[in-house]
Amino acid sequence: MTPGRRILRLASHAAGKSDVGRVREINEDRMLLLDHAGRGMAVYAVADGLGGHAGGDVASTLAVETLARELPALLAEGGPARDALLETVRRANAAIYAAARGTERAGMATTCTAVLVNGGEGLVAHVGDSRAYLVRGHETRQLTTDHSLAGELARLGAPVQAGAHGQRHVLTRALGAAQEVEIDCVTEVLRAGDVLVLTTDGLHNAVPAEEIGAVVRAAANLEEACGMLVGLANARGGVDNASAIVIRLAPWRGGRALRLLAPIGLAAFLAGGLAAVRLEHAYFLGVRDDRVAVMRGVPVRVLGISLSGVVRVTPVPVSRVAPAYRGRLAQGIPTASPEEAERMVPGLLSHP
Ligand code: MN
Repeated sequence: MTPGRRILRLASHAAGKSDVGRVREINEDRMLLLDHAGRGMAVYAVADGLGGHAGGDVASTLAVETLARELPALLAEGGPARDALLETVRRANAAIYAAARGTERAGMATTCTAVLVNGGEGLVAHVGDSRAYLVRGHETRQLTTDHSLAGELARLGAPVQAGAHGQRHVLTRALGAAQEVEIDCVTEVLRAGDVLVLTTDGLHNAVPAEEIGAVVRAAANLEEACGMLVGLANARGGVDNASAIVIRLAPWRGGRALRLLAPIGLAAFLAGGLAAVRLEHAYFLGVRDDRVAVMRGVPVRVLGISLSGVVRVTPVPVSRVAPAYRGRLAQGIPTASPEEAERMVPGLLSHP
């Protein structure tokens, strides 16, 4: 840390969503969201279990349970937060290794990407190919490196075709695979307004980093961001369990974080005047299949993701709308409620 650099005290709020996907039968991803881990700290983690019938879900559950149980106790002892975090991950490794050894679960293991929000610092402990991203303004940066064959090859500067290798997703490090584990630890100085995103590979293999950032900026709240991210992974095949935890850092205010009402950066995407509109309370009249439709959300697309949904398609064809209104209709005419939208329809029609 740079001497003299002031680290602000921040509070964190988070939401998480994990989904089995559309192909797998069980969800071996696990999440941990602990807003109060002690000493004003919070801890969040994703774990993606490996081993299928051999207990991938047992390994990922052991990882998050060990973090939840042992990290607050270690932090309470008052030592450096980084040491406590790394020691807890080492204990999780030992617990999984011991539970697997000599059983039919031999070979079970898990990824683990955990972030400890410690005042104005984010400490990331990481093993495997789950990821932590930092979304700051318009930039989305991956804080972790993948411990996979593809990740190692990329670090060695291997040619691009290595990415097409069939074994590219094979992990080179995992919790529980061996008696000892090498844990990456990254420290990041955080600012109010920063968003941290933790993902398992089922999520980030389907949704690129820039798009994760765009979704986080556009969503009305943390829950909606998680729902959109997992929904995108499923819409693109849902070939793996997909999990996302979205963590927003806010200024600390007398023990309570100031809740930010408008999502960061939304104004950059939406036309003026709509910036503070919360998506779940916004409606507009638009067009669907050449008919006038009542829509929920806002009439924009962010990097190809529609931020609106159909409430009701009316029987009125666009051809009956007065030409003067067709342009506005195509762009979306904002209304306060679905009922008001319906009431507006007759006034838009051309009367021969
Ligand atoms: Mn996975």
